[in-house]
Amino acid sequence: MKIFLATGNKNKIKEIEKIFKMDNIEILSINDGIEIPEVVEDGDTFEANSQKKAVEIAKFTNMITIADDSGLCVDALDGAPGVYSARYAGEHGNDLDNNMKVVKELQGAENRKARFVCVISIAKPDGEVHSFRGEVEGEFIDNPVGTEGFGYDPHFFMREYGKTLAEIPEIKNKISHRAKALEKLKENIDKILK
Ligand code: IMP
Repeated sequence: MKIFLATGNKNKIKEIEKIFKMDNIEILSINDGIEIPEVVEDGDTFEANSQKKAVEIAKFTNMITIADDSGLCVDALDGAPGVYSARYAGEHGNDLDNNMKVVKELQGAENRKARFVCVISIAKPDGEVHSFRGEVEGEFIDNPVGTEGFGYDPHFFMREYGKTLAEIPEIKNKISHRAKALEKLKENIDKILK
């Protein structure tokens, strides 16, 4: 069976293809030359945006579609950047500026606790949709370390590994918010597809 992965973010595609390996499922994406319209992410929650992306693109492609809405939630910033993670500093996808904005806002803050959240939704062309959430906890550090990963990874320190997520891509794909959400999808996919 072919399932379409609805995202324009090539880093997400890379991670999801590595994490979500199932014998009977082939993942298609924009990397296979399929063009998709942009979906306006105007929801207040990861669930709302994730479901909107999956449902709209499933209708457009007429394929079973999965979508990922994810972001960084910092405790001392009352959960920000949250659903605005991709465009926190204004321009969509400017990782450097987004990270610098969080660094500035956390100046002087002792509480560095943060979590990544990922909601994976799977939708059928008829509008049926299911969502799965994964979270991973860490600390936001001022100075970036590591060159792998994307987004806020170089600032996301995991005490148990003594490293940021940008230093441990293999481990990231086992313990991340995205890995946890995809694991739940895997556990439920037979029920959903039958
Ligand atoms: P979305 O496309 O609206 O889901 O935006 C997700 C944004 O959250 C990305 O552009 C990153 O800034 C951030 N983000 C999500 N997942 C990760 C991750 O695994 N590592 C680092 N940043 C992430």
